[in-house]
Amino acid sequence: MEYVFAPAPIVAVPIAESVDTASARASFPVRRIYCVGRNYAAHAREMGHDPEREPPFFFAKPADAVLYVAPGTTAQFPYPSRTRDVHHEMELVVAIGRGGRDIAADQALDHVYGYALGLDMTRRDLQAEAKKMGRPWDVGKGFDHSAPLGPIHPVSRVGHIQSGAIWLQVNGIEKQRADVSQLIWSTAETIAYLSTLFALQPGDLIFTGTPEGVGAVARGDLMKGAVAGLGELNVRVV
Ligand code: MN
Repeated sequence: MEYVFAPAPIVAVPIAESVDTASARASFPVRRIYCVGRNYAAHAREMGHDPEREPPFFFAKPADAVLYVAPGTTAQFPYPSRTRDVHHEMELVVAIGRGGRDIAADQALDHVYGYALGLDMTRRDLQAEAKKMGRPWDVGKGFDHSAPLGPIHPVSRVGHIQSGAIWLQVNGIEKQRADVSQLIWSTAETIAYLSTLFALQPGDLIFTGTPEGVGAVARGDLMKGAVAGLGELNVRVV
């Protein structure tokens, strides 16, 4: 195949370091990034919504929005254009290893390759304008570098992350804290529901939603986030 210009590289996220040297060098090729909206009740409330268990809803980011954050390092998140209100949303990310459609919830976890730490960075002012005008969320959610992401931790090493603390600090001050067990739609239910809308494929990532406490960051701020069992994610706004 000849292309008229060089195709964009495949977006790939390293597998978390392992005692197994083969997988230590392997990477997870990213196909699509799906995100769940309002999946913790207290966050739904802070955004002005009734957290009643309505069906989950989804938006997407382009795969090349990934900003890889290597463990033990601080990644640089460039303050995005056309906004004055960039918010942090700390999230548990599910990495799909086996595709499928109409997946049953009780088998959904069999499709998970692993888990990662992610930030669903959001131009909140542009998202709010889109909501008001009934327009798509893409410019608020899918901008360049809007998906800082740590390495993928395989299920074979960390098991399934169904509970445990999720938190985020900005400049050492805690802003978000909840427990993954408080997800309105569990990861299994989310995978099942999403697979009725799209055929899931290996390489898909699902940002599962953020707890309460979202807020703005400014240039120079250091975000530190974690989910129990998956290490920490350090990102500086530049
Ligand atoms: Mn989010």
